[in-house]
Amino acid sequence: MYDNLVERFLKYVKIETRSDSTSTTVPSTQSQVEFAKVLMSDLDDVGMEEIEYNEANGFVTATLPANTDKDIPVIGYIAHMDTADFNAANVEPKIHKNYDGEEIILNEDKGIKLSPKDFPNMRNYIGQTLITTDGTTLLGSDDKSGIAEVFSAMECLIANPDVKHGKIRVAFGPDEEIGVGADRFDVDHFGADFAYTIDGGPVGELQFESFNAAGANVLIQGKNVHPGTAKGKMVNALKLALSFDEALPDHEVPEQTEGREGFFHLLGMTGTVEGASMNYIIRDHDKELFIKRKQLMRDIAIRLNAPFEEERVKVVMDDSYYNMREIIEKDMRPVDLAEQAMKNLDIEPDIKPIRGGTDGSKISFMGLPTPNIFAGGENFHGRYEFVTVESMEKATNVLVEIARIAAE
Ligand SMILES: [Zn+2]
Repeated sequence: MYDNLVERFLKYVKIETRSDSTSTTVPSTQSQVEFAKVLMSDLDDVGMEEIEYNEANGFVTATLPANTDKDIPVIGYIAHMDTADFNAANVEPKIHKNYDGEEIILNEDKGIKLSPKDFPNMRNYIGQTLITTDGTTLLGSDDKSGIAEVFSAMECLIANPDVKHGKIRVAFGPDEEIGVGADRFDVDHFGADFAYTIDGGPVGELQFESFNAAGANVLIQGKNVHPGTAKGKMVNALKLALSFDEALPDHEVPEQTEGREGFFHLLGMTGTVEGASMNYIIRDHDKELFIKRKQLMRDIAIRLNAPFEEERVKVVMDDSYYNMREIIEKDMRPVDLAEQAMKNLDIEPDIKPIRGGTDGSKISFMGLPTPNIFAGGENFHGRYEFVTVESMEKATNVLVEIARIAAE
């Protein structure tokens, strides 16, 4: 159906592009720069125009010019080049045709299996062609399936000039997995009226709602005194840290919440009697509840500080991203178009809030409304990741169909 889709996907997953949260360069790893060069050359082969690499932000952008004079919004398609924090060296994708619903041996030597007992979602793909890992790396379907799908959609539109479409801009960006890539995206230069990230889950996913997100550092100053003579003098930073965490609502943690329920998540803590620090992330779809969560942390600090003359507990908070719904619901065209495109293709749209963020969360707040469309993968960020050829074809169909109906 799309001649080069699978071949291109397999080529891209074999190119290692893991991002690195400890790096200070843009992009965070040189391997992403190398991959960007491969993409530029491939964009050129496909017949795309205005192919550019922006050294300041690590984005590759290109244009498919309109093939009609009609006044049609400029649509953007965005996917990310990097892969998650998991072994991504020497990815050896394995192809399993006509999947029978049984367990798959990923790695005979290491005894690594992909089993529907652990991953019942596998049963949704009986009869399809699965692409898996060899059990030692991630696959990188997140988000190389997105990139390959954008390529095939552009190829398809170029090969079928009878399908009328407006100008389409594509962007492949770095460092999504470490949450910084989109911060430098140049919305003005991209010049789209709205865009889609093609990133993530199973067929039908369409998301325009993300968390509101913040990080909080709780810094605690103790006072260490010899325990034999500590009465009335010692301040144990570790005890204050425990009290802080206990003051948060018991059940509002990731492991006990779903849907639209927000949470506080304790990511890390270190400390001694003398000093302690804790890292939290705060998440909520609802802006007001999000603000209340942050206030609760400040209030707890005030309460814990009350018995002391000096500030012992300090909370430093930083907002990470906001719920893109706030922006997108002002103009639902991109969501309506994607929904219509899926319906035209007999794909049931699955519109649910994401329990996370996307590049689109940030890009939407920069002024470019950017919902997210499925790329087709499953079990991201580890050795059990897989995608089917059929899902990738469907995602590609959706991109072509969006372009087509936007021009109607
Ligand atoms: Zn992704």
